[in-house]
Amino acid sequence: MELLKMSMREVKNYLKNNDTVIIPIGATEEHSDALPLGTDTITAERMAIEVGKRTKRVVAPTINTGNCHSITYAFPGTISLSPSTLTAVIVDYLKSLYKHGFRKFLFVNGHGGNVSPIRCAIDEVAPVFKNSRFAVGSWWKFKELADLYDNAGHAGRGEVSMIMFLAPNLVHEEWLTEEKTELPRYFVSEDLVTKEITKTGIISDSQNGDRETGRKLFEKSVEAYVNLVKELER
Ligand SMILES: [Zn+2]
Repeated sequence: MELLKMSMREVKNYLKNNDTVIIPIGATEEHSDALPLGTDTITAERMAIEVGKRTKRVVAPTINTGNCHSITYAFPGTISLSPSTLTAVIVDYLKSLYKHGFRKFLFVNGHGGNVSPIRCAIDEVAPVFKNSRFAVGSWWKFKELADLYDNAGHAGRGEVSMIMFLAPNLVHEEWLTEEKTELPRYFVSEDLVTKEITKTGIISDSQNGDRETGRKLFEKSVEAYVNLVKELER
């Protein structure tokens, strides 16, 4: 059930028996020459909608612009909310949903730069909300995926596989590359990103993905989120 497609009465009826809401959050962020800027948003939204279908829980509208202030802001097309702005947006989402009776909040996160703002937002509201629980899942961190995916990074084979499965028409296979990039153990200012981190916008060992791996990654992620809903509601 997508909140955007429900009427007020349907929300009221839902809240008589349930107070869980699933919140997809992604990014508008470069993902190399080959993948769409919406990679993280498409992934989070499709996972959230599938989890909503399987659990019969409400899915809030996707927050489709994330915090990309480090690294990928240097590349064309990226739209970034600063960490403090994104935290404020999430706090207002949570407050609105809480106001109407939602008490269990599951973030389906598609982008690494959102992890800290989500956590900060939860820390803002947790002392004043009552009887509420919060969970955050980022698919690439699920241990259920460990045998399919070993830290394949930004715009790497994990995300290539995912988009080949979810939106194959948006993958420019002729522009996939093999540049290997590794994050150093320090952070850099934006002027140093293309000199020290990545020239292609990829932070990974490979873009060698495939559709079948994407299907498995998606399915296992959805299963992990369904379990997280159960945990949140136990
Ligand atoms: Zn991504």
